[in-house]
Amino acid sequence: MSLSADSARVHVRAPGKINVFLEVGEVQEDGYHDVASAYQAVSVFEDVWATTADEITIAVSGTVDLAQVPQDDRNLAVRAARLLAQEAGWRGGVHLDIRKGVPVAGGMGGGSADAAAALVACDALWGTGLSVHELHELGARLGADVPFALMGGTAVGMGRGDELSPALARGRFDWVLVTHAFGLSTPEVYAALDAHRSRYALDIAPPRRRPVVEADVLHALRAGDAAMLAEAARNDLQVAALALRPELATVLAEGERAGALAGIVSGSGPTLAFLAADREAAIELQVLLSAAGHTALHVHGPVPGARIVD
Ligand code: ATP
Repeated sequence: MSLSADSARVHVRAPGKINVFLEVGEVQEDGYHDVASAYQAVSVFEDVWATTADEITIAVSGTVDLAQVPQDDRNLAVRAARLLAQEAGWRGGVHLDIRKGVPVAGGMGGGSADAAAALVACDALWGTGLSVHELHELGARLGADVPFALMGGTAVGMGRGDELSPALARGRFDWVLVTHAFGLSTPEVYAALDAHRSRYALDIAPPRRRPVVEADVLHALRAGDAAMLAEAARNDLQVAALALRPELATVLAEGERAGALAGIVSGSGPTLAFLAADREAAIELQVLLSAAGHTALHVHGPVPGARIVD
């Protein structure tokens, strides 16, 4: 997509995600684990405003703790803009105003959403006119969760999580997110999972199969059935996140006692996602968890991927 030179400000909104299912297989030669995941984009957003500039610069603000967000070339949004400029042969720059709403290092793909938003915004601002497929390919080079932040909705991700196919999902699912003041590093959580598995593996254990998203998960999404999804939701990284932060187990139990159909660690955590029966049940759950002293947020999914906002 391209813009006329005088409308030189583009606003793009990209969502955070929940892994409603995540099965983790073996480590591959590239150092990534083979995974099978069902993603859902939820209504917590990153907003990025792009304006023309001589260099590539950013300013970061937001409603979440920003202490861990790099403000330099390590920021995923800057890396996305640089990659697109290089691929498109663009000589100019961009200023990216990033407003973060997704908890940082929370397992909800906030950095990936910024990268997706930056790709869409710079593509429009610079008139590079890349196809959706080309943007997805660039996104995958930036990080395994970036293609899903571009696509949004509900999808199955295989390989590193970036081999995506849309999944049919009916209706809306209501979630309550409990965020934490601390973050968890995704590589550390995967390392803790590997350590846990080697500690508990039996010598005679059968070889692990390639990961798959279980049919019950796809069925529940297709049926729009929250109770069925609650039964089928699973995250292999949960055991590792709980080993690193045992207090998360107490909060999971608290949410289920307060009426959640299920509680699950989101991605590599520490954000916890509680599935509610419907909108009213989610409001009630959010009130109860907030009253108990937690930072609880009612969101819903699926929502679209990175999009230009008028
Ligand atoms: P992952 O995508 O690794 O699963 P996450 O969803 O748990 O991560 P993010 O908020 O995406 O968490 O950030 C993970 C780390 O990435 C941060 O601690 C930070 O150092 C780095 N990072 C780079 N760019 C960004 C960005 N734009 N926003 C947030 N973090 C960023």
